[in-house]
Parts: sequence; structure tokens; C-alpha cells
Amino acid sequence: MPRLAKRFGTPLYVYSASTIVSRLRAFDDAFRKIPHTICYSVKANSTLGILRLVAATKSGFDVVSGGELERVLRVDRRAAKKIVFSGVGKTRDELKAALHENILLFNVESESELWTLAECAASLKKTANMALRVNPDVAAETHPYISTGLHKHKFGIPIAEARALYARASGIRHLNVSGVSAHIGSQITEVGPFAAAMERVADLVRLLRADGHTINYVDAGGGLGIPYTRVAPTDFSRYAAEYAKAVTNPLRGLGIHLLLEPGRAIVGPAGALLTSLVYRKKNDSKTFLVVDAAMNDLIRPALYNAYHGIVPVIPAYSVRREIVDVVGQVCETGDFLGRDHDLPVIAEGDLLAVLDAGAYGMSLASNYNSRPRPAEVLVDGKSVKLIRRRESTSDMLRFES
Ligand SMILES: *Cc1c(COP(=O)(O)O)cnc(C)c1O
Repeated sequence: MPRLAKRFGTPLYVYSASTIVSRLRAFDDAFRKIPHTICYSVKANSTLGILRLVAATKSGFDVVSGGELERVLRVDRRAAKKIVFSGVGKTRDELKAALHENILLFNVESESELWTLAECAASLKKTANMALRVNPDVAAETHPYISTGLHKHKFGIPIAEARALYARASGIRHLNVSGVSAHIGSQITEVGPFAAAMERVADLVRLLRADGHTINYVDAGGGLGIPYTRVAPTDFSRYAAEYAKAVTNPLRGLGIHLLLEPGRAIVGPAGALLTSLVYRKKNDSKTFLVVDAAMNDLIRPALYNAYHGIVPVIPAYSVRREIVDVVGQVCETGDFLGRDHDLPVIAEGDLLAVLDAGAYGMSLASNYNSRPRPAEVLVDGKSVKLIRRRESTSDMLRFES
């Protein structure tokens, strides 16, 4: 880590290729008893170097915009047949781009979108495979901003209204009703809500089949959380198996092909954000470590009050400890990476690693305060690849006149 910091500078996202691949394999293995496709959720980390690694494992992708679609196609054109397209506001252009690539499944989130998809498909003389994203109205214990499965949320179609809409969809020539989809939120660490959602989806599948629809796919969405606070290392295989059981039990006997859209659970623990201490600062009794990474680089603490473990990465550090707030350089009180962390005392210039930053880190990075975004490296055994170079100030100003 100190060598990476020296070579590439800080702040720096560092990812482990073997962690990503082994988590994908463990996840895949947990579902081995049922036909399934993993569609990695691109928005968790959409850097091409990460997508390339995921594509090499033969996984599919879940995209939520035309931009994400294009990223996947850049990495592997043949991945198109394993792409599912989600999102509440897909535009005509985005729908057409996806139709052009003959993607696996459109997860339609409203009646208006259904008509628009039909129109676009007709104009291109294509048939769109579609599912409705239903809102199963189950509460998931997570941060309110990333809970999506309740009727008060903007996502999906109320499950009670889905049947009527499927009936309408099946009458449209350019649409091919082929699945039911549900995604109830993110960073869900209890498997109960997944089971509850799938019970409701299974009931709907039975109803739809009785109505005469061919339902081949159930898309269970993503959302499996990770333990950001780790006392002891957790066994991901066991956790994934528990999740798989919750998802698949309600679907038993339906003979469906399961689609899964994990994001965070695959890449979250595989990444760390390396940062250097710029200044130590004391305001009365409070100690601040002002570091060179900030909320524009990793917004999760500011946005969700999320906790990330933070550790020093110098070889032999002080045995003296202190309680500190690790904060960035942005002019916002909400700009912190960690509050009240108990850390060994480090000196200005020393390095810290913010852990479990592989998901919703770089993909949510911005230029707020005119800060160029960090570089990203992918470590694969002995090889170190710069998968995104550090932005420069002139990169940042390029689009302005
Ligand atoms: C964000 C999202 C995911 C991935 O969620 P994770 O919590 O990262 O697993 C999957 N599907 C949809 C539709 C999403 O919006």
C-alpha cells in the first residue's frame, strides 16, 4: 500500500481482483441448485477495469442508464444477451439503444414506460423481453435512502396492480412478457425481507401463469448487505448460502430461471480508499485528522451517515491511541470519512486506508469543490494495473468555455 501511494499518489482507490472474483464465484456457487444468471449491478462500481474482470467470469450485468449500457458493451459486446435494464426513467434513446443490442430483459417500472417501450420496439421492428418490476411492499431494515420496496417509494409497480398491467402488455405485439422482477433495497443484512419479497413474487408468478402468461424469469434484484463493522472475518460463502436459501425457497417448484443483481456484496469489501494525513488539528478537546480524500471521493459517510473502518497503513505505528474525526478538505460539516474513530496516533504525511470502499465509492465520486477525482488501481496477484488515471484540473475544466 505505501508503495502504491508513492507510485500513484493519494487519494487512491485500490481494488483486489481476487476478492472480486472469489466473491462472484461464492455467490454463483450458493445458487448452484437452481438455473440462474448473475447480473452484476454496474452502478456499484462501473469502472471499465472492474467490468472487464466481471465479464471474464461470464457474469451478466444490471444497468440503469444508457451510459452504463455503453460501458458494458465497450468491455464485451457479447455480454448484451445477459444485460437486464432497470430504472424508473429510461428515455426513448436509452430504450432504443438497449433494444438495438437485443438485451435479455427490460425491467419496466410504470405503465407509461410500458407503452414507450412498445412504441420503440415497434419502430425498430424488435421484440422486447420484459418483466414488470413489482413493488412487493416489504420493509427492509436499511437506510431510508436505499430502501426501495415500499409503496411510498418511487420504484416499481404496486404488486396488486401488476396483474392487470401484464394483461395489457401481453396484448402488445412487440412485447414479450417473460418475467417478474423485484428489488427491495440495498445494504440489507437480514435475509428475512428477501424471503418475504420472493413469497409475494412467487404468488404473482402463479397467478400470471394461470392467466396464461409465460413467465420464465424471476429477477430477485440485488441488495445483499456487507458488514462494514467487522469484529471477526465473516465467511461470505455461508452468508451467500443463507441468502440463496431465502431467495430460492419460495420459488421452489416454479421451474424459473433466476436472475440476481448483486453489486455491493461483490465489490464492496474488495476496495479501499488510500488517503494521506494532511494536517492534524485540535479544536478544544476534539482532534481532527484532515486527510486528502473527501466526500467528493467517497460520499457514503456524508450521504448515509455510513460507517467505514479506517486503519493506518504504516508498518510500525505508535501504540498510543486517540479518538479522532477523520475529515476531508471540502467546505461542508458533513464532509467526514469517520467520526470518533479510535486510531493509533499517526503523523502528517502518514497513510490511512478507508475500508470496504469498493462499492458506491468511485461510482458516486464528484468534482465538488473543484476537486479532481482519484485514480484507481486493480491489484491482481503481483500485477498492479492503473484502471483509471487521476483526473487533472484541466480534465475537469475541459467542457467549460
Ligand atoms: C442498486 C441496484 C442493485 C444493486 O444493489 P446492491 O445493494 O449493490 O446489491 C440491483 N438492482 C437494482 C435494480 C438496483 O437499483
